[in-house]
Amino acid sequence: MNAKQVIGSSKFQPAIHVGVLGFGGLGQAAARVLALKKEMILVAAADKQGYAYAAEGLNAGECIATYQSRGSVGYLEPVGTISNRSIQDLTESVHHVDGYFLALPNLPNNFIASVTQELIKSGWRGVLVDAIKRTSAVEQLLEMKAQLQAAGITYMTGCGATPGLLTAAAALAAQSYTEIHRVEITFGVGIANWEAYRATIREDIAHMPGYSVETARAMTDEEVEALLDQTHGVLTLENMEHADDVMLELAGIVERDRVIVGGVVDTRNPKKPLSTNVKVTGRTFEGKISTHTFTLGDETSMAANVCGPAFGYLKAGIQLHQRGMYGIYTAAEIMPQFVR
Ligand code: NAD
Repeated sequence: MNAKQVIGSSKFQPAIHVGVLGFGGLGQAAARVLALKKEMILVAAADKQGYAYAAEGLNAGECIATYQSRGSVGYLEPVGTISNRSIQDLTESVHHVDGYFLALPNLPNNFIASVTQELIKSGWRGVLVDAIKRTSAVEQLLEMKAQLQAAGITYMTGCGATPGLLTAAAALAAQSYTEIHRVEITFGVGIANWEAYRATIREDIAHMPGYSVETARAMTDEEVEALLDQTHGVLTLENMEHADDVMLELAGIVERDRVIVGGVVDTRNPKKPLSTNVKVTGRTFEGKISTHTFTLGDETSMAANVCGPAFGYLKAGIQLHQRGMYGIYTAAEIMPQFVR
């Protein structure tokens, strides 16, 4: 019997054993989300310098306190291990993890694809979910479909907020129309300080004119701070290379050039600079042109809107995996399952 068990539709189901790879802003938020869930249990967490594993469940508060005070969950006694190849060591030594949330920086732009290759090589079988953002990054993963299938891995990609929750909302909103003209995603993010989400902010800078993934990755923390000083802490992003486009195109909803993504990120104020929304414009069967708008509540944080969907898709991925449906799926083609 696991520490957490829940009543499924017909019988007791063991809680889903979850690992979180990457324990920065989103990884820590993910641990806090899981602490409130009965159907999922956090058993593993890894960061750049180490990992922690406990089959009976990790204490989110202890993991966070250890990471924040000492820089790695690997220092958590007695369950932590210090390692500079933490993901390989964790996945090679531990076998009871049903699914991993990849809360890792995708810097360079093929980092998550390379971690996935390592997981395939390790022989581990289960569900992977990412909150990856760039079109080109999702495309690399889509190309790995046959390898994932052969490895017995069900990979859920683009399952954060955008891409993720908002892409899925667009897929749903599209149902009213016989023809889709435009999908426009505008996100507002407010965070108290950029250091809490270093990878997210570096990846956002990479979308600014004159920057690339490589130049943003190479920036020192001081250089990021100097840039943020110039912009008063605000990043304004337009026409981003965002995988919502390829996901909606693959789902057969709209061509990718009709999907537009932009946003404003305030790195010095947790209040959102604008309300995150997706607008889906199309023509109904009667010939009427209309726009559906789905707006997120301003009180919901980026972390809430990424981690909630990620685990909802992880649960959906577990159900696919149990049915032998391996390979790769996007947030636009599968409905997330609510995690109790
Ligand atoms: P962060 O910088 O706060 O934390 C990254 C973590 O990864 C750290 O714990 C670090 O130690 C760990 N890490 C780095 N290299 C590692 C390695 N080789 N092995 C093991 N661990 C390693 O990151 P964040 O701001 O939480 O962002 C995580 C990802 O989430 C980013 O790629 C970001 O783009 C993505 N994101 C997606 C959405 C969305 O809506 N889809 C929204 C926000 C962020």
